[in-house]
Amino acid sequence: MTSEPTPDSLPGLLDRARQDHRELVALGLSLDLTRGKPAPAQLDLSEELLALPGVGRHTAPDGTDVRNYGGLQGLPELREIFAGVLQVPAGQLLAAGNSSLELMHDCLVHALLSVLPGAESRWVDQERIAFLCPVPGYDRHFALCERFGIDMIQVPMTAEGPDMDVVERLVAEDPAVKGIWCVPKYSNPDGVCYSDATVARLAAMETAAPDFRIFWDNAYAAHHLTDEPVAIADLLAACAGAGNPDRVFVFGSTSKITTAGSGVAFFGSSPANLEWLLGNNAKRSIGPDKVNQLRHLMFLRDADGVRYHMERQRALLQPKFEAVARILESELGGTGLASWTSPKGGYFVTLEVPDGCAREVVRRAAEAGIVLTPAGATHPYGDDPRDAVIRIAPSYPGLAELERAIEGLTVCVRLVGYEQRAR
Ligand code: PLP
Repeated sequence: MTSEPTPDSLPGLLDRARQDHRELVALGLSLDLTRGKPAPAQLDLSEELLALPGVGRHTAPDGTDVRNYGGLQGLPELREIFAGVLQVPAGQLLAAGNSSLELMHDCLVHALLSVLPGAESRWVDQERIAFLCPVPGYDRHFALCERFGIDMIQVPMTAEGPDMDVVERLVAEDPAVKGIWCVPKYSNPDGVCYSDATVARLAAMETAAPDFRIFWDNAYAAHHLTDEPVAIADLLAACAGAGNPDRVFVFGSTSKITTAGSGVAFFGSSPANLEWLLGNNAKRSIGPDKVNQLRHLMFLRDADGVRYHMERQRALLQPKFEAVARILESELGGTGLASWTSPKGGYFVTLEVPDGCAREVVRRAAEAGIVLTPAGATHPYGDDPRDAVIRIAPSYPGLAELERAIEGLTVCVRLVGYEQRAR
């Protein structure tokens, strides 16, 4: 355990950090902690999928021939399995293609180009559209807004979800605010789980825009890392109960359950919103890949099958998250140079360094061959105003490689932190 530097100890600590960094660079490492991708060993858990459904097995339990066109809403038996995970009745769930991000993209495009239930006009016909962006958040949500010219308004995250005082004020006063991005469970990147109070306030709040939508990206709904799986309140039911049934779009996928390139994505919402999306989708496709849906159904079998599979995922992921926590604590604990999250699920650890240091830490790590997600990626327009947040994605590297990368990262945090103190 290191201790907070004093004017006497700082020069020595800085010298040691510089020496450690020189030695780190000399190792010539090539380590990547950027994206939250499953490791090959995680993908191996679903290897059986590659042999499914198998020759001659092309009929879904309801009699659908999965080889043919049609079935826009996706296989009902697969929707039944994910209804509980995503807290959406199977009849209001759509099983689609391989990517939930694609569904989010499409929902934005459709809202821009066709009138949403409850809307007075298309979004594209309005002078300005804005989304609330809890920060830190998921860079690809922000990239979608940027792509479509949607203004982004930052909202600070708290331990219970977005700061609801800020959210309630912004949605009440500005009809241009049409949506909010939420990753409600084990959020990307800070692992926050929304409290029941946050869910209730999101459902009931007064919005100036009649067509306000919560983009409820429940990407980590089943991705627990402890023996105490977190349960969040059911936003779709809460919205219906509060008289705002069309307020939420739920998204999810099996990308980090089975395979990240060839899983199944889901959309869930009110009957009116589902009809709206299905109507728009009907112009875009004659039906989803039901062969892939059938193979997922055969492989996962039921909700217990998903739980069992996620336990196996956890067995591979938990040691990596424990290693990150252990090394951060032993190398940076007590230095006053960093704080970090201890998520109970999901794919990320958020490391906070002193204001003004994140970019430099990432740069110094890159010098040593350790590639991190660019500092700022967790904020709209890639700009973290405090320059303090670094997202760590521990899933992909092997354990030994991950340990080396995190040790190296801590060297860079000490170097940059002590350099700043010495100035
Ligand atoms: N949503 C969040 C919060 C994510 O972290 C990710 C991937 O990292 C995705 C969505 C992407 O999901 P999909 O693979 O279903 O497009």
